[in-house]
Amino acid sequence: MRRRIVAGNWKMNKNFQQAEDLFDELVDLLKNGQNKDTDVIVCPPSLYIEMAHDLSCDEEDGNEVFYGVGAQNVNEHESGAYTGEISAGMLASMGVEYCIVGHSERRRYYGETDALVAQKIESLLQNDIIPIVCIGETLEERESGKAFEVIERQLEEGMFNLKPLDFVKLIIAYEPVWAIGTGKTATPEQAQEIHAHIRKCIQEKYGKAVSSTIPLLYGGSCNPKTAPELFAQEDIDGGLIGGASLQAEDFMKIVNA
Ligand code: PEP
Repeated sequence: MRRRIVAGNWKMNKNFQQAEDLFDELVDLLKNGQNKDTDVIVCPPSLYIEMAHDLSCDEEDGNEVFYGVGAQNVNEHESGAYTGEISAGMLASMGVEYCIVGHSERRRYYGETDALVAQKIESLLQNDIIPIVCIGETLEERESGKAFEVIERQLEEGMFNLKPLDFVKLIIAYEPVWAIGTGKTATPEQAQEIHAHIRKCIQEKYGKAVSSTIPLLYGGSCNPKTAPELFAQEDIDGGLIGGASLQAEDFMKIVNA
């Protein structure tokens, strides 16, 4: 059976105190009501990774871990003169287990290409960090009937260079660009159609044993109302949550969906 995963992407939100309060609220809720079949991941701004890691487990409670810690971005190089950047080795040394790669905001505002995404994935895997790789089409691409084509290109150029043993470590998030931060969630049918296509492409490339184990998350204005029906779809194994991960109660409802 595939892992069920809900990951929160806080993006560039919350000051230090607000972040601490949100972690505290989240831990309280996770302690008391977490659906244990679902893995929870929190991706705060990098400045708060140490705090996220410290608060993620309860020593009194037999070291129970409430959520995994993820980063929102990584540089593709190991080290060197790259002012302002953070490497996968640095993230690993801070206890980071996951990292978002290829988010549409990074593709759009920072010009990240599929080739760069491939390099970042390689660097993360070398440091035993699980990449959460985002793919998805823009509204224009969907309306001109190119959604499948875009997804295929992003898979091919960003991930299909990997050997099967590395590819199986990935988590893939389908995030239609038109749904991110817009309040316009994809319908369960729209999301399932693309998820099924992603799984089919993976099956063609790596075989059924691999395609049936890769967790495929949906992301894009997912909220407590829309999550249950989305997550009930055959090929949707959870969600990557932006806005709704900034409210502990909403995030928790999505986790339990
Ligand atoms: C995201 O940024 O990954 C995301 C899914 O954002 P939102 O939930 O706010 O649309």
